[in-house]
Amino acid sequence: MKTIGLLGGMSWESTAGYYRAINEGIKDKLGGLHSAKIAMYSVDFEPIEQLQHAGDWEGTANILIEAAKSIQAAGADFLVICTNTMHKVAPEIEEAIQIPMLHIADATAKVLVNKNIKKVGLLGTAFTMEQGFYKDRLSENYGLEVLIPKEDDRRVIHNVIYKELCLGVVKPESKTLYLRIIDDLVAQGAEAVILGCTEISMLVNQTDTNVYLIDTTAIHAQAAVEYAT
Ligand code: GLU
Repeated sequence: MKTIGLLGGMSWESTAGYYRAINEGIKDKLGGLHSAKIAMYSVDFEPIEQLQHAGDWEGTANILIEAAKSIQAAGADFLVICTNTMHKVAPEIEEAIQIPMLHIADATAKVLVNKNIKKVGLLGTAFTMEQGFYKDRLSENYGLEVLIPKEDDRRVIHNVIYKELCLGVVKPESKTLYLRIIDDLVAQGAEAVILGCTEISMLVNQTDTNVYLIDTTAIHAQAAVEYAT
């Protein structure tokens, strides 16, 4: 079994989900007392969140590159960055290390392609929904058409992530808002909706809606299990 390198803490609420999902996946696959071999570096999210909102992506990359190098030095065979948003600086991180990285958008796109889905809604931070680093990878590399919510709704989605979910706060009224926005994306033609932020599954999951939800945390964790075994 390979050692999984987890670059987490963004937020720790969702990294805890990765830790559980990866270990459950290894247990399902190998049985008995098997558990995942993991080298994890969990960063302090506050300075990273400040740099993100100041637009200082190079600053975030510098922090994550140091963390990724530590993970590599700790013996990880490959790297998993436990956030969609910080894949914005995935190219810089990949360049600074020698071990391979499992990109969250690739793992997600493969599920969509396997299900023959062509048009998909995307929820995530404003960075993920509005910038090219994630959406373009889905459309250019996998031929997916990506729909995002309208501006007001993007603000709602973004604020709930940073002001509630990353702090472990789950509010029923936010869930109602998310479900309405998901339905709007389906009304625009989305065949499925990507929960493109690793905390969103704390708020909405498949039992809440008939819309096919693509949970990036679960998918990325499963991809790590497959690669490790
Ligand atoms: N975990 C989140 C994501 O998947 C948001 C926090 C972050 O900015 O990294 O995008």
